[in-house]
Amino acid sequence: MIDLLWLLLPIAAASGWWAAQYRSTGRVGSFVRNAEYFKGLNYLIDDKPDQAIEVFTRMADVDRDTAEIHLALGNLFRRRGEVDRAIHVHGSLIARANLTADQRYRATLELGEDYLRAGLFDRAEALLRDLVDQPAHTEIALSRLIYIFQQEKDWRQAMTYCDRLEDISGESQRRQTAHFCCELAEEAIRQQQEAEARAWLQDALARDPNCTRASLLLGRLAMRAGHHQAAIVAFQAVERQDRGYLSEVIAPLGQCYGALGRLDEWIACLREIQERDHGARITDALAEWLLRQEGEDAALRFLEHELRNYPTLLGLRRLVELKLARGEGAKHADLQALHCISTQMLNSAARYRCDHCGFVAKSLHWCCPSCQQWNTSKPLPDLVMKTSA
Ligand SMILES: [Zn+2]
Repeated sequence: MIDLLWLLLPIAAASGWWAAQYRSTGRVGSFVRNAEYFKGLNYLIDDKPDQAIEVFTRMADVDRDTAEIHLALGNLFRRRGEVDRAIHVHGSLIARANLTADQRYRATLELGEDYLRAGLFDRAEALLRDLVDQPAHTEIALSRLIYIFQQEKDWRQAMTYCDRLEDISGESQRRQTAHFCCELAEEAIRQQQEAEARAWLQDALARDPNCTRASLLLGRLAMRAGHHQAAIVAFQAVERQDRGYLSEVIAPLGQCYGALGRLDEWIACLREIQERDHGARITDALAEWLLRQEGEDAALRFLEHELRNYPTLLGLRRLVELKLARGEGAKHADLQALHCISTQMLNSAARYRCDHCGFVAKSLHWCCPSCQQWNTSKPLPDLVMKTSA
């Protein structure tokens, strides 16, 4: 229905043009045109775009001055995936000398959308840059330019235009510009420019103090440099910024505490986290470190108690692994099969889901590949099936 309304908007605008023309063109001509117009409209309502296009094309051929019909027709072609025809219609419209300024800007915007759909980013960019200084079209032109620069991974330009859009619209763009800083930091890391990377990450946190990605990257940089205490501080910030990403820092935090020889402190820290969050990865990590520090019995006692209240597949697999390691597999052949099944299920399960569109993936995408939103993909709660009692 929303699609239909979108299609009808330019057509509805065209109807205004006919109303205005009614007196000047005469009753009979106007009646014929209106009949054609409503015929085309009915085709749209009946979801018959082919017939609608046929009617509107006929009308546009008869009335070559009707910019609104050409705009609508071009949009219909684009919506149907016939981008070449859309470009032709909108391009021909812009070439006319008798357009009003508003019609010319709208046609330019539509042609820019056509080029975007066709993947001709350089042509779209040139058109949209011309529109940025037109107050009625500034916001849409800026948002489309930001889209182009993101596709081209030109993060500096994307950031510049986001800042401009924020100034004009008053809507914060900080969450996504913080990610642009993180993208630039990752580029710097790939080029071994660690000081530059740190500067970009500080910029990211200045823009968005809750940018977990910046803290994760700062932690990894510190780890790489052997500064494990600094890495712990960076990783621990994640829980404060967004608890949804806590599972992402459990493994590196364990490595840092291990490198500093402070495993007792780490296990105490894990127990404290686990009291608030019974997520499978935290439970699994605690079982693993208990096994290393306190032995099999302590790890098994913990898992058996935890899984009774918070059963998880990851926890179950760890429990089975421990029992197999104790040689109980010889007495219970089913344990091997259970381990195999749980591993297959864990390997095939998605680990992340986008809060905005529901897209699921096995790896973390900071920008959702489906809806293009930043920071909306979050770790899933790892098949936690909480008991109702
Ligand atoms: Zn999404």
